[in-house]
Amino acid sequence: MGKANKVLVIGGTGYLGKRLVQASLNSGHDTYVMHRPEIGVDIEKIQLLLSFKMQGAHLVSASFDDYQSLVDAVSLADVVICAISGVHIRSHQILLQLKLVQGCMQRFVPSEFGTDPARMEEAMEPGRITFDDKMVVRRAIEEAGIPFTYVAANCFAGYFLGGLCQPGFILPSRERVTLLGDGNQKGIYVDEDDIAAYTLKAIDDPRTLNKTIYVKPPKNVLSQREVVQIWEKYIGKELQKTVLSEQEFLAVMKEQNYAEQVGLTHYYHVCYEGCLASFEVDDDQEATKLYPEVRYTTVEEYLKRYV
Ligand code: NDP
Repeated sequence: MGKANKVLVIGGTGYLGKRLVQASLNSGHDTYVMHRPEIGVDIEKIQLLLSFKMQGAHLVSASFDDYQSLVDAVSLADVVICAISGVHIRSHQILLQLKLVQGCMQRFVPSEFGTDPARMEEAMEPGRITFDDKMVVRRAIEEAGIPFTYVAANCFAGYFLGGLCQPGFILPSRERVTLLGDGNQKGIYVDEDDIAAYTLKAIDDPRTLNKTIYVKPPKNVLSQREVVQIWEKYIGKELQKTVLSEQEFLAVMKEQNYAEQVGLTHYYHVCYEGCLASFEVDDDQEATKLYPEVRYTTVEEYLKRYV
């Protein structure tokens, strides 16, 4: 397969999607950004779309409520990258992607960018819905014979590092931290711009065709305690630490609303079970090995921006 010239990003106004659009522009692809008429008078999103347009992106109006508009949008591109929302506390629209499953793409990258759902068969309720829905989309893609690449990007750094791996926090405290369990389970933290850069590398690569790739930067496989130590080094003091046992965590979780519980389930699997780093990834499926030319952001570098 040659270089895919035309890339359509769906969900390009989102948290990850806007980075995928930028990475597509940066890598010289002819970039199409789908936006929906329902965007209304959201001035921030319109301005973001215009900033992409000024860099050469083509803006394409289409809606999941108008199937023909979707077909027309998809037909503009060789590769479709979807970053539609999939976090319940924001919005969860993963199954809408079933409307995108058509045969005319060179490659489809569905909205995943987290824990590999294929490894989460035993995941807990209610958070398993995220993995179950992503697997429904995978099965539809594979049954339709659409070439694909799945990107298992592990933890978005902004959520996990910003909060020192504590759910409900996205800014690191200078006073205290709650350790989840013994704080020794390893997580994997990835700068969202790096996720986008690796994704754009992968779409042109025959090695990643019909494969899952994992973004597992070797220096970013760290426990919560190790993340906290890096932060403590920056602020020059030790944080006051409280331990939240597994039982306490699960009890607190049960008191939350549905959307919060979904998110907490994910933290549980990452921070108490170590689900991300508990298996080996072959070099030919690991993004930093496949694309050593991408200089990834280390946890140390990422945390520095909060000092
Ligand atoms: P966002 O919530 O930021 O939303 C992304 C996009 O979805 C927006 O562009 C939004 O468009 C679009 N969208 C929502 N509803 C519709 C609809 N009905 N029709 C068309 N477009 C719609 O998404 P995230 O960036 O948070 O999530 C992207 C992916 O990353 C998901 O798969 C998610 O599970 C994953 N993720 C992984 C994390 C990790 O730590 N590994 C953390 C967070 C997310 P509009 O602007 O028009 O509303």
